[in-house]
Amino acid sequence: MSQPTIAIVGAGHAGVEAAFALAAAGAAVTLFSNEPGLPYFRPRLIAVAFGQAAPDAIAIKPEAAYAKAGITLRHEPATEVDVQARTVNGQVFDGLIVSPGSHPFVPPFKGERTRAHTLWTLADALAIREAALPGKAITVIGGGVLGLEAALRAAEAGLRVTVIESAPFLAGGVLGDCEATLRRALEAKGIALSVGVGVAEITAEGLTLADGRTIADDLLLCSTGARPNGPAAGTEGYLKTGGDLSLAPCVYAAGDPAEPPASRPTCSVRRAQLMGQLAAKNLLAELAGQPTQPWADPRLPLFMKVGDVEFHTLGDVRSPGLLEKCVEETPPFIRKTILRRGDQVVGLRWVGTRAGFADWEKQLA
Ligand SMILES: Cc1cc2nc3c(=O)[nH]c(=O)nc-3n(C[C@H](O)[C@H](O)[C@H](O)COP(=O)(O)OP(=O)(O)OC[C@H]3O[C@@H](n4cnc5c(N)ncnc54)[C@H](O)[C@@H]3O)c2cc1C
Repeated sequence: MSQPTIAIVGAGHAGVEAAFALAAAGAAVTLFSNEPGLPYFRPRLIAVAFGQAAPDAIAIKPEAAYAKAGITLRHEPATEVDVQARTVNGQVFDGLIVSPGSHPFVPPFKGERTRAHTLWTLADALAIREAALPGKAITVIGGGVLGLEAALRAAEAGLRVTVIESAPFLAGGVLGDCEATLRRALEAKGIALSVGVGVAEITAEGLTLADGRTIADDLLLCSTGARPNGPAAGTEGYLKTGGDLSLAPCVYAAGDPAEPPASRPTCSVRRAQLMGQLAAKNLLAELAGQPTQPWADPRLPLFMKVGDVEFHTLGDVRSPGLLEKCVEETPPFIRKTILRRGDQVVGLRWVGTRAGFADWEKQLA
């Protein structure tokens, strides 16, 4: 095939990575995007929302890079995607990459749900940016990694911040014995934490919690998880891929919706990029009649850092029955622990610093 035509559905981290890899190999790439402007680095949205990054400073690549690589960035939602026929919006391609990312999930709270902001797109970030003025009170529902980063950035922007988490732990429970250290650091930034109690109702003035307490706010952010998008606009669900990310002949998936069952739910830029690279490589191999490679799950750290508040975890930090041992502590804000299974080190939890993390990483089984 002289110059294969490839359509990519979704211009996020996976889609952009795949597009540049395919274009570099000589394919004619059309990148479908349902968001305006240039594809952007999604994690920077939190800084945009709280005025710490300019909206036009978060592009993954400058506009000229797409033209130079010969990639057509088409601002048109893929409303009809047929993976068997390899068509997008009625146009036939030699190959497809499906990388539509995720959308935020908001539980069916009672009350004034329309008051709740989500933070998943640039449009979401700009809406929050307009309302997030110093001195205002914000409630963040959800004490996961994204909710905590939003809380810290809101506090840095001069807002009064409360975090509500219905689970008995923050950050999805990955911090174990180190969580108390992180809580101290958050509280030292003026963030009020309410952990282990759910939301009963969103009211016009704030929230009522399940234990009857009320919280007043000016701004409400729901950071309560995400759901994968399906191939066509308005659809959702994980994609059923083969081990090499294939969906159909000459069609591959990448990014959040392509996560294998054992890794769900995971939203990760680096994983999306790696999947985008592999999807592109496998599509090119298939077009050339060569064998494809399987997706090999990478071991990546989970981390959050805003100013001097940070944590880093790696390896197995979730299995029950692991032995947690503190290897260093500098109260009140620094604590490092390792997790052992028998005499093997299988996980790391670092709060307040990253110093020494890389050395221990080498010892991980
Ligand atoms: C606020 C925030 C902070 C985050 N912070 C981190 C972090 O610090 N570290 C980290 O690893 N991960 C972070 N994540 C998660 C990370 O951004 C995602 O896992 C990553 O973007 C997934 O990449 P993707 O390519 O699968 O999807 P995305 O980057 O979401 O891109 C998918 C794109 O496809 C578009 N699309 C969907 N359907 C269609 C269609 N039918 N037609 C055309 N376009 C379509 C979407 O609108 C979107 O633009 C964060 C996410 C958010 C929202």
